[in-house]
Amino acid sequence: MNFHEYQAKGLFAEYGIPVPGGEIARTPEQAVAAARSVAGRQWVVKAQVHAGGRGKAGGVKLVSSLDEVRSEAERMLSMSISTYQTGGRALPVDTVLIAEATEIREELYLSALVDRVHRCITFMGSAAGGVDIEQVARTEPHKIITAQVNNTTGLQAFQARQMGFGMGLSASQVRQLGAIMQSLYRLFIDKDLSLVEINPLIIDGDGNLVALDAKINADDNALFRHPDLAAMRDEAQEDPTEVEASRHDLNYVTLDGNIACMVNGAGLAMATMDVIKLNGGEPANFLDVGGSTDAERVAAAFKLILSSEHVDAILVNIFGGIVRCDLIAEGIISAVQEVGVEVPVVVRLEGTNAEQGRRMLADSGLALTPAADLNDAARKVVAAAGQAAEVSP
Ligand code: GDP
Ligand code: MG
Repeated sequence: MNFHEYQAKGLFAEYGIPVPGGEIARTPEQAVAAARSVAGRQWVVKAQVHAGGRGKAGGVKLVSSLDEVRSEAERMLSMSISTYQTGGRALPVDTVLIAEATEIREELYLSALVDRVHRCITFMGSAAGGVDIEQVARTEPHKIITAQVNNTTGLQAFQARQMGFGMGLSASQVRQLGAIMQSLYRLFIDKDLSLVEINPLIIDGDGNLVALDAKINADDNALFRHPDLAAMRDEAQEDPTEVEASRHDLNYVTLDGNIACMVNGAGLAMATMDVIKLNGGEPANFLDVGGSTDAERVAAAFKLILSSEHVDAILVNIFGGIVRCDLIAEGIISAVQEVGVEVPVVVRLEGTNAEQGRRMLADSGLALTPAADLNDAARKVVAAAGQAAEVSP
């Protein structure tokens, strides 16, 4: 799950990480009131969306009067932001943060993430922080310092010192960095995060470290034990199809291709996507309807697929172990009858009551293409999607 900057900064403040003062607003009037209650004569108006890169997209503005606060808030609240991090979507701006303007001497970078290769939490830091950090990572990777945290002993003081001196900080700044890293590590563990990023972590006019931006990502599988985090969810920022899917307990991820997949079991869904690619096709989604699904959930999944864009063909791949294939067939038939389907559908049913399920599909009078096995199914759906895409590019 993703969070807004203001939510992440709220957590930072709870954990003693220095952040500039600020207040959120949902109307231009609220923005002016927020600016009045924030210290200083200069403010930064910041669009709150679930993505970085806002600065370059006009979503971060330094202003020096209440009139400007109002007009910038008004402008941002009526825009939607698309950056290199939004995956082609434009995110609506429903909230702006009015933050105290901070003098910046230097922009640094600091993050922590789950490092799957080393099976630990790894910190990354750089003196070359700011809006071009991705470029630095690509062209000057030696400017990024890493520290792998031992899962048993936790973050050690010497690791923070190495990081700080490596970033060129003074002794007192290194001490501040150490405190910030320890707090981030506690936050990370306490809240089951998968990522926390401060970019930029700045050196302010007094030479102190301050988190000017904040991004966190929490592990969805642990949200059940963090009701405080779950309450921060902002569905308006999420892919509408994925939101709908989560309401039906479906594991759904939107992808770039044009072949929709409906599969039971995450492993089989991964294998199905692989075989589609092996046959020259591109999956439009990952969809696992669950190992013990029923007709109702299959119908919901099918409708979800049909409502998503760019689908030229559908592949249903069900292995009936716990689930019965006749129930799956029932779900497919009822969904297709209810919403209608204008793209080719290839179905592979195998396992418990597969024969019965296939017969039901054949007798339904619906234009469904049966497949003998997974390879056959993938070949057929890739061919069908190719033809459909030619007809309506
Ligand atoms: P992002 O573009 O979405 O990552 O948004 P950031 O919050 O990181 O802001 C982008 C850039 O705006 C920062 O790297 C800073 O250069 C600048 N900026 C943000 N807040 C302030 C501030 O309080 N004062 C000043 N002078 N610049 C700021
Ligand atoms: Mg940033």
